[in-house]
Amino acid sequence: MIKNETNWIACLTGGIRQKLAASSLVVASCGAVIAIVMVGLCLVVLYQARQDALDHTRDKLRDIALVAQRDIERNLELYELSLQAVVDGLQQPDVMALPPHLRRQVLFDRAASAKYLGSMLVLDEAGNIVIDSGSDAPRQGNFADRSYFSVQRDNPGAGLYISDPFRSRLRGGAPSIALSRRLSRPDGSFAGIVLLAVNLEYFHNLFAGLSLGSHGSMALVGRDGTMVMRQPYDPRIIGRNISGASTFRRFLSAPEGSFSETASIDGIRRLYWFQNFPHAPLILMVAAAEEDFYAAWRRRAMTIGSLMLVFGFAFVALSMLLGAQMRRRMRAESDLQLLAHTDGLTGLNNRRSLGEILDKEWRRARRMHSVMSLLFVDIDRFKAYNDTYGHQAGDDALAAVARCISESIRRPADTAARYGGEEFVVVLPDTPASGATEIAERIRSAICECGIAHAGSEYGRVTASIGVVSRVPLTDDDLTAAIKAADEALYNAKATGRNKVSQFHPS
Ligand code: GH3
Ligand code: MG
Ligand code: MG
Repeated sequence: MIKNETNWIACLTGGIRQKLAASSLVVASCGAVIAIVMVGLCLVVLYQARQDALDHTRDKLRDIALVAQRDIERNLELYELSLQAVVDGLQQPDVMALPPHLRRQVLFDRAASAKYLGSMLVLDEAGNIVIDSGSDAPRQGNFADRSYFSVQRDNPGAGLYISDPFRSRLRGGAPSIALSRRLSRPDGSFAGIVLLAVNLEYFHNLFAGLSLGSHGSMALVGRDGTMVMRQPYDPRIIGRNISGASTFRRFLSAPEGSFSETASIDGIRRLYWFQNFPHAPLILMVAAAEEDFYAAWRRRAMTIGSLMLVFGFAFVALSMLLGAQMRRRMRAESDLQLLAHTDGLTGLNNRRSLGEILDKEWRRARRMHSVMSLLFVDIDRFKAYNDTYGHQAGDDALAAVARCISESIRRPADTAARYGGEEFVVVLPDTPASGATEIAERIRSAICECGIAHAGSEYGRVTASIGVVSRVPLTDDDLTAAIKAADEALYNAKATGRNKVSQFHPS
């Protein structure tokens, strides 16, 4: 496009383009921001759901541990009472004087027949069975090597002792633990022990009945680190000392608590709940695998997450599409506007656009009390040029002249327009007569120096005559008068020989 000729339109359409670029960007950015906020909210909700799953599992583990601990404690209490009853009975001569089968009934009552109770025995100071809950004639056996015996023998203040797991010699190797109490003579010397063996099957069945998920685990551990029972059950783990494991060290750190850790035994990450028994050297641990208790959450997260991603992308894509559509539409509108204001042959403003510019600049000059100049440019003997060189050559000459005009005006506010036929108007705001004449002269010589041959002209080339008028607008009607004056000045230039610039002088 020729320089300067469509300043005003360029400004107008440039403004529209900037606005449309900005607004379509706003639409696309809003879409992206909304999508990001939606995805963010979704992530927050999913995170909270994950925390809920964790909290819920911790509560469930605590409940399970509580149920199991109460069951174990109640049984231990019963066992202890039974042991105490035997200790007390042994000290009563009346009881000891009873025939063996009656003495057995009195000493061991019916607790001795409880489901998981192995046997209740009274051992002498050498570890031999002297009274047996299982038969009137005591079975043969010496248990001086067992810890439940040696601890009571060597330590008068041991009280109730709960042993590590062992394999019962009387019951075919059944895994058991024993509770023992010391028997002392009146002088305090060791007289033997009373012991009660509990089948580990009790813990096994207790644990197996509690639901912990497919990778859950539960264990009863001595405070010295000896494994009493573990679910899932593995006979090789029973009796093993785990005091070196980091999980076990955490069990000792507080009366009860919870933590997440990867188990060294199977490499599965679990949430642990542990509690120390208040009245026994035992710790109960319940654990649920993360892959179990997060499974439902993970499924939901996958569904919601993928839906969210799809919707998010669709939303962003739609807003970008909308933005692009807006941009395209507004660009088409601005192109149309440009076309509507431009002369197709010369690229200058057309007459309609000239009218708008003149109105605007005239009003502005009136407001500012500034001088406005108008140039009327008319090609000399152009009819003859057309007649000689043809209409197409005439069109080319018109375009060349338009170029000369637009290249001769420099300020952004100056505007050139095709008034019609071979006539052009140049609007020069804030330009006094002297400056306007100077620009007119520049245009005239530029056209002349273009050197377009014109045999029908007295100058042998294409020339133009220019009428100049300069006014400080006082009323809107002045504009018509100014146009008329410029036309008169042009007529004067034609009349005085053409290829001339003529200033309007009121006669
Ligand atoms: P003067 O020096 O007095 O201005 O003489 P003139 O022949 O230039 O003036 P006139 O008004 O008699 O003729 C104008 C001519 O301009 C008429 C027409 O042949 C030519 N013309 C007007 N518009 C166009 C156009 O769009 N293309 C071409 N090729 N010629 C045009
Ligand atoms: Mg004319
Ligand atoms: Mg002419």
